[in-house]
Amino acid sequence: MWETKSKFLRVKCRDCGNEQVTFDRVASVVSCLVCGATVAEPTGGKADIKAEILEVLS
Ligand SMILES: [Zn+2]
Repeated sequence: MWETKSKFLRVKCRDCGNEQVTFDRVASVVSCLVCGATVAEPTGGKADIKAEILEVLS
């Protein structure tokens, strides 16, 4: 079955180690709240996650 629901991802910034939650689908670039590094980039579908994914929250 095609999964269309967005999921939350708990991610850890590769640069500073900050943990934050983002969607697995984003409309614009998501930046780390602490250091400003790119955490997720939109690709038209699923986000391209640039940080370490710690957990997928449904
Ligand atoms: Zn950071």
